Amino acid sequence: MIFADQHLHSAHSSDSETPMEVQIEAGIEAGLKYMCFTEHMDKDWPEVKDAGVIFELDTDAYYKHYLECRERYKDRVELRFGVEYGFQRHLVQHNTEYVGSHPFDMVIGSQHLVDGVDVYLPEYFEGMEEKQAYGKYFEALLESICLFDGYDICGHLDYVVRYGPNKNKFYNYGDYREVVDEILKQLIKRGKGIEVNTAGFRKLGDETNPCTDILKRYRELGGEIITIGSDAHTKTSVAYDFCRAGTMLKELGYEYYCLFRNRFPVFVDL
Ligand SMILES: [Zn+2]
Ligand SMILES: [Zn+2]
Repeated sequence: MIFADQHLHSAHSSDSETPMEVQIEAGIEAGLKYMCFTEHMDKDWPEVKDAGVIFELDTDAYYKHYLECRERYKDRVELRFGVEYGFQRHLVQHNTEYVGSHPFDMVIGSQHLVDGVDVYLPEYFEGMEEKQAYGKYFEALLESICLFDGYDICGHLDYVVRYGPNKNKFYNYGDYREVVDEILKQLIKRGKGIEVNTAGFRKLGDETNPCTDILKRYRELGGEIITIGSDAHTKTSVAYDFCRAGTMLKELGYEYYCLFRNRFPVFVDL
């Protein structure tokens, strides 16, 4: 059983209303022994006209609340302090200063935007064929993982696939091999890991993000650092389908995963 969930949101993120305590109780209930919160810090995220959402994190308030929870639940679960930082090419300097000024245990770097448009919006796909839209996303991600250094894990590597008009119906790794392989090689060279994001099981049905073929390829290329995260914004999604993810990873030949403490990976048997 995978006992560590390393991608969790609570009401400290702009797109969740779930109190941190509710997420923690759900995790304990699900048998988790380790939970790393990774609230959104998507600086300069373009405001959606109607929603008026701003993804900037009040990190001090989050840290204070995290410390209170860590103390309160210390006998029941190990809590850790993380962040999901949104890549945009003009934020390299900000990222370096930001991650250095808080005692994070883990930083997920995520590409949510391409040229200022969040790919979860239908407008991202307007006027583009699927292959072009997905390919453009991977190119943007490749640029980001090389530009930035202040992250430990690349978040939901094929995130764009969740939101395409046909999602993953016609999607396969082979069509993007060149750019995806380069992403994986660069991550490995830089000592960065990837996550197995089980929100894919919720949103796509049969695949995590990234998909099985990419997870397989990462391992073939020598990648060893993987984390597992539910990307839960509500209590019902905490540790979502972790048994299924564990079985899948073993079938792919993985023998261990990582959990992070003070930005260092600790290897744990699957
Ligand atoms: Zn994300
Ligand atoms: Zn997330």
